[in-house]
Amino acid sequence: MNIHEYQGKEILRKYGVAVPNGKVAFSVDEAVEAAKELGSDVSVVKAQIHAGGRGKAGGVKVAKNLDEVKAYAEEILGKTLVTHQTGPEGKEVKRLLIEEGCDIQNEYYVGVVLDRATSRVVMMASEEGGTEIEEVAAETPEKIFREYIDPAVGMQAYQARRLAFNINIPKELVGQAVKFMLGLYKVYVEKDCSIAEINPLVTTGDGSVMALDAKLNFDSNAMYRQKDILEYRDLEEEDPKEIEASKYDLSYIALDGNIGCMVNGAGLAMATMDIIKHYNGDPANFLDVGGGATAEKVTEAFKIILSDDHVRGIYVNIFGGIIKCDVIADGVVEATKQVGLEIPLVVRLEGTNVKEGKEILEKSGLNITAADSMADGAQKIVSLVK
Ligand code: ADP
Ligand code: MG
Repeated sequence: MNIHEYQGKEILRKYGVAVPNGKVAFSVDEAVEAAKELGSDVSVVKAQIHAGGRGKAGGVKVAKNLDEVKAYAEEILGKTLVTHQTGPEGKEVKRLLIEEGCDIQNEYYVGVVLDRATSRVVMMASEEGGTEIEEVAAETPEKIFREYIDPAVGMQAYQARRLAFNINIPKELVGQAVKFMLGLYKVYVEKDCSIAEINPLVTTGDGSVMALDAKLNFDSNAMYRQKDILEYRDLEEEDPKEIEASKYDLSYIALDGNIGCMVNGAGLAMATMDIIKHYNGDPANFLDVGGGATAEKVTEAFKIILSDDHVRGIYVNIFGGIIKCDVIADGVVEATKQVGLEIPLVVRLEGTNVKEGKEILEKSGLNITAADSMADGAQKIVSLVK
C-alpha cells in the first residue's frame, strides 16, 4: 500500500526524523492559507500523487511570495502530471503539500528495503541524491553504500555512522544524520514498510539534516495490525478494478494487454500469463481467484475483467483442487448472464468435478471455446482476439 509524501512525513516526524514544516491543501485558498500560516520567506508547492519524478514533470514549484503560491497552486491542482512513474496516462493532482522552502547545501539518498538475497533489511545511502537512484546504480554503483541489519539487534549507531561518513556528510552533522537513519530504520520495521526511501535527504545552510521527500510503501498483508496507516489510504490513487477486487479478496493486478485471465492459484496465474506471452498474446491482468472461491467470487471476478475496455477475450484456466470446476462454471454462466458477453471466451477446466463443470458450460448456450490443455487454450484465445 502506498501513501502520500505529506502523510509519510507525518509518520517520520513522530519518529524524530526531521522534515520541513508543511501543510496539506485541497484547494487554492487552502494552499494560500497554509503558506500564510507557515510564514516562511519561501514556500514550495508540491503535487501529492502516488508517484515520484514530480519535480521534473513540473509538480514541485518554489514560490517566493503568496501571489506565487496562488499561481502555482492554480497551475498544479487539477493538472494531470505525467512522470516516469505514472505511465503515459498520468495522474490528476488533487492535493498539494505547501512546505517551507529549504536552503539546500547538498542532496543525498537514503533508502531502506528488504534484501532477499541475505533475508535482511538493508539501508542504502549515496552522495548522489536528488537524481534517480536506478541511474546511479547502473552508472556508478560504487557510489551506493549498504549496511545489512541484523534483525536480532536492529540497526546499530556505528552502522549509521559508517554510512554517514561514506557519503561524506559534513563532520559536524554526522550526529544528526545518525539520528535520522536510526529513526528511519525504526519506522521501516515498526510500520511494516516494504520500502522507506528519502530522496533527497538534505543538509541545509543553517546546519540541519532533513528529509525533503518521503516515499513510504507498506506491506498490504500487515495492514490488519497497522490501523493508523490504513487511514492514510487514498482510494482515488488506486485502480478502481483493484479496489473492487480487494473487496472480494481476489488477487487482481491490472496490466496493459487485451486477454483477460481468470485463474486459481498464483503460480498457475503466472504460468498462464507466461504461456499467453509465449504465443504472442498480451494478458490484461493477473487474477488469482484463490482456493476457496465461491460462485459469487467468480462472478465478481468475471465482472471486473469485463469492466476493462481493453479486454478483447477471456481465458479461464482453472485447476479444480480445493475449488470445484462446477462452481467455477456456475460463476462464469452467472456473470455472463448479469453483464453479457460479446467477446470470445476460452475455458480450460481440469480436476475435481470437471465433467459437471463442462456440462454446465455446454448447456448454458454460451459461445464458449473449450480447451484440452493450458497450451491449447492459450493458442486458442490468442488467435481469437487477433
Ligand atoms: P520528486 O522526487 O517527486 O521529484 P521531491 O520531493 O524529491 O519530488 O522534489 C524534487 C526536488 O525539489 C528536490 O530534489 C529538491 O531539490 C526540491 N525540493 C523539494 N522540496 C523542497 C523544499 N521544501 N525546499 C526546497 N527545495 C525542495
Ligand atoms: Mg524525490
